[in-house]
Amino acid sequence: MDDILQISGLTKKFGGLTAVNNVSFSVAEGEVLSVIGPNGAGKSTLFKLVASFLRPSAGEVRFQGKRISGLAPHVVARMGVVRTFQETTIFKGMTVRENVIIAHQLRARASLPGFYIGSPTARKDEAEFGRSADAILEFLGLSHIRDEPAIALPHGHLRALGMAIGLATDPKVLLLDEPFAGMNHDETMRAVEMVKDVRERGVTILLVEHDMPAVMQISHRIVVLNFGEKIAEGTPTEIQRNERVIEAYLGIEDKTIGF
Ligand code: ADP
Ligand code: MG
Repeated sequence: MDDILQISGLTKKFGGLTAVNNVSFSVAEGEVLSVIGPNGAGKSTLFKLVASFLRPSAGEVRFQGKRISGLAPHVVARMGVVRTFQETTIFKGMTVRENVIIAHQLRARASLPGFYIGSPTARKDEAEFGRSADAILEFLGLSHIRDEPAIALPHGHLRALGMAIGLATDPKVLLLDEPFAGMNHDETMRAVEMVKDVRERGVTILLVEHDMPAVMQISHRIVVLNFGEKIAEGTPTEIQRNERVIEAYLGIEDKTIGF
């Protein structure tokens, strides 16, 4: 498998705090790679650096061999590196289906003003986006809620809608930051299956998640951060046996690594 992402010497300082410290690893095309670590380890900052929401203090991220660090986040998203599960990107006043249609804008040919004015290109896009949105909702088993207003959705469905929105942008790499947070066991198991289905479509997945059984089940490889530094990298089995990882999680009672 070729590497789709190469992260080299990535560092982010916030004033005197080094949130991500000289982190390097590669992500193979088509794999599920999870980033784990205690609270404050730098996981979310790392994802923001990869999706170019933050500029690194040092180091770089390469996507398909091309440096993406420093590019605007919407440019990086258009290239196919998409961070999702931010509930803020969901328009609460719209239905599930409308939200997924709007998300297609990211890859639209028509300009956003054209979309609202109803230019011929925009009308063609809109019909195409409607068909695509229906296909995504069906694929994720969400057809039955497509006309529900987003504001009325329970937590689990909101997260699933986040996934649908992410897919609508036609990503090559999907960054999921704690997609199972707040879900009960059944919702988590369903979401794990969804992530596997998305991967089956050829999408490479980077995951930050505290639910260790889910992480162990879903990941090909795991990178462990502690105080901004990478302390381990390996298969789920290797990580579960790693002394430094076990040590990093010791004494953290509510966030036990759980194996
Ligand atoms: P995690 O996602 O692993 O819990 P974060 O990446 O959110 O960790 O945070 C890593 C560290 O960086 C924390 O100490 C956090 O307080 C700090 N941090 C994160 N974002 C900012 C910011 N925008 N400004 C200042 N400090 C930040
Ligand atoms: Mg975080």
